[in-house]
Amino acid sequence: MSEDCIFCKIIEGEIPSTKVYETENTYAFEDVDPKAPVHVLIVPKPHIPTVNDISGEHASLLGEMMSAAGEVAKLKGVSEGGYRLVVNTNRDAGQVVFHLHMHLMGGRALGPMG
Ligand code: AMP
Ligand code: ZN
Repeated sequence: MSEDCIFCKIIEGEIPSTKVYETENTYAFEDVDPKAPVHVLIVPKPHIPTVNDISGEHASLLGEMMSAAGEVAKLKGVSEGGYRLVVNTNRDAGQVVFHLHMHLMGGRALGPMG
């Protein structure tokens, strides 16, 4: 838990969120400002700021996040139609919250990456 991290506070229940799915080490909730009809954030419960802070010890945690993403896609009904997973890192990607999170977006044609 990082004291001034909004996603740590969401995981702890100190800030409200709309839960979509949860596993032992991950939590998934609705993005408050959705960019697509389905927009869910999947976060590890431990505070990891960015992809740059990941090391080998996080391997199973990352697997759990990907597995959670697949479950979230099923729950939100976008498995077959398709969806995009995005992890922004630092300035050029526009990362705003420095607690690792995976965006799961779908429910419409998302267009080419750019
Ligand atoms: P990023 O630019 O990858 O750091 O994305 C941060 C995301 O967190 C944005 O899509 C925000 O809409 C979302 N967000 C920020 N605060 C909250 C919150 N309290 N509950 C849910 N989503 C949030
Ligand atoms: Zn955090």
